[in-house]
Amino acid sequence: MPDTRQHIVLATSNEGKIRELAEPLAAFGVTVLGLKAFPQLSNIEENGATFEENALIKARATAAASGLLCVADDSGLEVDALGGAPGIRSARYGCDWPSLPGESRDARNMRKLLHVMAAEENRTCRFVCCMAAVCPDGREFVVRGLWPGRLLREPRGCNGFGYDPIFFLPSLGKSAAELTRAEKNSRSHRGQALRALLAQWPTLAQ
Ligand code: IMP
Repeated sequence: MPDTRQHIVLATSNEGKIRELAEPLAAFGVTVLGLKAFPQLSNIEENGATFEENALIKARATAAASGLLCVADDSGLEVDALGGAPGIRSARYGCDWPSLPGESRDARNMRKLLHVMAAEENRTCRFVCCMAAVCPDGREFVVRGLWPGRLLREPRGCNGFGYDPIFFLPSLGKSAAELTRAEKNSRSHRGQALRALLAQWPTLAQ
């Protein structure tokens, strides 16, 4: 049985996300477990209307099942000209479009978004990341990171994932997929949310 003071759960099976939280929390003597440690929790339904709600739904369900402090995140891309879409549907945005042979889910999402935005001049957008922490005693914390940019008209760069190749940063003259991992983490919505959560760590881990 994991020690409730030394173990927390990050509600994801994504090893990259687990490492991202595990590295800074090692300094607090905390070990981060992923959802693989709780197989009964593999299908939490994210039916919230906002990033905050979805992060809280996942964090609450995992905290209840594990009895440990639990962190969950939800993120996506908001495009102003589309009233904030794809937003919380970012991962599934292209699901209603036929796939091209060999096309990844990320590539289909971008292809749909570029098509929908083809005639649009207003290309402002932002990545959003909300992280929720739910403590065994019921206390809840939510933080949010925002990363503003502009939608390109065609993909650029091959780093990162998701919408990175069409997310342009005017101040750098690069897409997010042209940044190194360290360059992206120091600016991104996830990096900001993570740093905000870590700043509260001594309070929420009490
Ligand atoms: P999730 O919160 O990890 O499920 O991510 C939701 C979706 O938002 C991803 O599948 C991507 O499509 C998109 N997304 C979130 N963060 C990023 C990012 O840093 N770069 C590119 N796409 C992202």
